[in-house]
Amino acid sequence: MATSLLRVAPPEELLRPLAVPERLLLGPGPSNVPHRIRAAGGRQLLGHMHPEVLQVMDEIKAGIQYAFQTRNRLTLAISGSGHCAMEAALFNLLEQGDPMLVATNGIWGQRAADIARRLGANVYEMVKPSGKYFTPQDIEQGLVQHKPLVLFITHGESSTGVLQPLEGLGKLCHRHGCLLLVDAVASLGGAPIFMDHQEIDVLYSGSQKVLNAPPGSAPISFSERAREKLLRRKTKPPSFYLDMGWLANYWGCDGEPRRYHHTAPINSFFSLREGLAMLAELGLESSWERHRANCTQLCQGLLDMGLQLFVEEEKARLPTVTTVRVPEGYDWKDITAFLMDNHGMEIAGGLGPTVGKVLRIGLMGCNSTSGNVDRVLGALQDALKRCHRSRL
Ligand code: PMP
Repeated sequence: MATSLLRVAPPEELLRPLAVPERLLLGPGPSNVPHRIRAAGGRQLLGHMHPEVLQVMDEIKAGIQYAFQTRNRLTLAISGSGHCAMEAALFNLLEQGDPMLVATNGIWGQRAADIARRLGANVYEMVKPSGKYFTPQDIEQGLVQHKPLVLFITHGESSTGVLQPLEGLGKLCHRHGCLLLVDAVASLGGAPIFMDHQEIDVLYSGSQKVLNAPPGSAPISFSERAREKLLRRKTKPPSFYLDMGWLANYWGCDGEPRRYHHTAPINSFFSLREGLAMLAELGLESSWERHRANCTQLCQGLLDMGLQLFVEEEKARLPTVTTVRVPEGYDWKDITAFLMDNHGMEIAGGLGPTVGKVLRIGLMGCNSTSGNVDRVLGALQDALKRCHRSRL
């Protein structure tokens, strides 16, 4: 009998019910998923080529065009997380030997440089201390020195809490024959960005931050200039899954009949559609203002507690993710664990260059409320009383 060949028993843990506690997610993402978006993701599955699904994809496209403030035809959602969109951008833009300039002031520049090197690009990195941003003069110097075809920069540096000003960078890049690639995974919907007006060539984001959808789908858009570079490629992009030619067709961006490329995460698309719909209903300007106001309230509360903000310049603070220095006499892990165990609340430690130095508090989308600011400040006050090393 075939069953006699079974050597691995059904796992005990799978015979128990799924355990998912209620938790307030105030780290740098994912953020909590409101009922409406969860319900959308729980709807019955349809086929990935059914007209109703194609219609939802068209609606997502329109939602991304609104959120990005672009009229780009080549606008869609990647089936994958923010990293997948980063790879989609780089895999399609770069060919072996292409010079690329990466503005690194935290982990996301490091990651982009790593991916670009794997592709055989000629990668130059411009490095700023974490907590700082790049000025147009810094960028121009890099463009003149390295003559890159692509510049990568992060709008919302979630590992450090820095908001990168983008004004003028697109024009500058274009004057130097370079395309501008921007990561807005942590900032989209939380801080102003205007893809067309700012002449950004490739922009991508994620679903699980301000859009409050589960992780696994990532908005991306390519300008006409970027599309032309894709058309001029001498070699195919190294990934079939992330080939923008195929994806453009599947998303109805090339005017051709849509062909099967991969089985899209349809239920994730339902959720993303609702996340974008909620942003459209609220309006970008209200969303930006809400994130700004709650971040200001949070920063003031942290300062009133005697804590130090990591990003000194107020206008350089990312409204979605606030970084606060771990105070003397404390270990960040004790604080994050205390909040989790006693307040059912997630905040995060540092990442990359900020590990051990900061705590990161995220207020994104529906989680960006004045009530949540009070909750996290209260919980932190409690943690500071209980977690001093001398007490443990
Ligand atoms: N870029 C930035 C700025 C991010 O904050 C993140 C997620 N923390 C990513 C890229 C990667 O996204 P994901 O974890 O969804 O792959």
